[in-house]
Amino acid sequence: MGVIARYREHLPVGPATPDVDLNEGSTPLVPSRNIGRTLGLSRLYFKYEGLNPTGSFKDRGMVVAVAKALESGSRVFMCASTGNTSASMAAYAARTGVRAIVVVPSGEIALNKLSQALMYGAKVVALKGNFDFALETVRDLTSHYSVALMNSVNPHRIAGQKTAAFEIVDELGDAPDYLMLPVGNAGNITAYWKGFREYHAAGRATRLPRMVGAQAEGAAPIVTGSPVPNPKTVASAIRIGNPASWEGATSARDESGGMIAAVTDTEILSAQIRLAGSEGLFAEPASAAPLALLFRLVRERKIDKDATTVVVLTGSGLKDPDAALKNVEPPIELDGDARTLAKVLKL
Ligand SMILES: *Cc1c(COP(=O)(O)O)cnc(C)c1O
Repeated sequence: MGVIARYREHLPVGPATPDVDLNEGSTPLVPSRNIGRTLGLSRLYFKYEGLNPTGSFKDRGMVVAVAKALESGSRVFMCASTGNTSASMAAYAARTGVRAIVVVPSGEIALNKLSQALMYGAKVVALKGNFDFALETVRDLTSHYSVALMNSVNPHRIAGQKTAAFEIVDELGDAPDYLMLPVGNAGNITAYWKGFREYHAAGRATRLPRMVGAQAEGAAPIVTGSPVPNPKTVASAIRIGNPASWEGATSARDESGGMIAAVTDTEILSAQIRLAGSEGLFAEPASAAPLALLFRLVRERKIDKDATTVVVLTGSGLKDPDAALKNVEPPIELDGDARTLAKVLKL
C-alpha cells in the first residue's frame, strides 16, 4: 500500500484523483541499539527513509504531486533537483507514462542519483550554476508553459511528505519529544511540522515535538539568517543557499520551541560512518547531519536523556558512495590461499 491509500482522508485527493503508487512510505522506525546507549539516550529511533522505492523520502510527496498533476491534465513534469527529487519524479513519470524533464546543477549531483533519472527515462539537463539558479529557472519556465512544477514549492509535495509524521505517531502511539532532520530547501521540515500539527488537532497525538533541523556549515542560510550565494558541503542533498520553504522552516522551529543549527562536513562524515558501523544503517551524508547535531547536543547537555528522539535518515547511503568511501579503508588486495588469507586477517 502507498501513502495515498494509507492516509487518503488526510490528503488532498478525491474520486477524480488517479491511483498512483510504488508502495512508498511505511518505512521502518528502527530503535537504536548502540548509539543511543553510548549517548545515554534511552529512546532513540531512526526513521529509515532510504527504504522508499527510489531511495529517499522524496517519493512520499512526489506520488501525491504526480497524482494531482495527472488529475489536472498535465502531461509534462519538470523539477530542479540536487538529485533525489529528479530520481523520484522520473520514476513516477515512467510509471504513469508522462514526460519528465529534470534540471540539475551541472557537475554537482551524485552519479547514482543521476543514473536513476536517466534509467527511468527522464530528459536530464545539466544547467550551469547552482541548485538555487536551477530552481529559479524551472519556476520561470513552468510559469510560462504548460509544464507541471514538481519541486516542493508544489503544495502537494508537502502534503504527501507529512505522512512520515503520521507514521511515527502511529507507531510510537504519540509524537516524539524531538524530531531531528536535515534542512536543505526546507520542504521536509515544513511537511513534518504540518503532519504533527494535523495529527495533534485530530486527537491522534497528545503533544507536539520540538523540531530540530541540521544544515551544513557551508550551506546554512537559515542558521546565519541570509542566503548563501555559493553553498558548499559534501552533503549534496542540502547544498542549497536560498531555501524555497525558508518561512516554513523558521515557523516549525519557532512554534515548536526547536532549533536549526549547522554542523561541519567533518562532523557529517564521521556521524555517517558511525551510524553505518554501529547500527547497520547506511544513509547518505545529508541524512547524517542531524545525527552529527545530536552528538553535539548531547555533549553540550542540551537534550533530555529520557526524551524520545527520532532522527530522520532521509536517503540511502547507496545514493552517494563516493562521498562515503573517502573515509574508510580500501579493500585488501590479495593473491593467495586460505592460509595467507588467515595470516593477513591475523586470525
Ligand atoms: C531532499 C533531501 C533533503 C533535504 O530536504 P528539504 O526538504 O529540501 O529540506 C535531505 N536529505 C535528502 C536525502 C534529500 O533527498
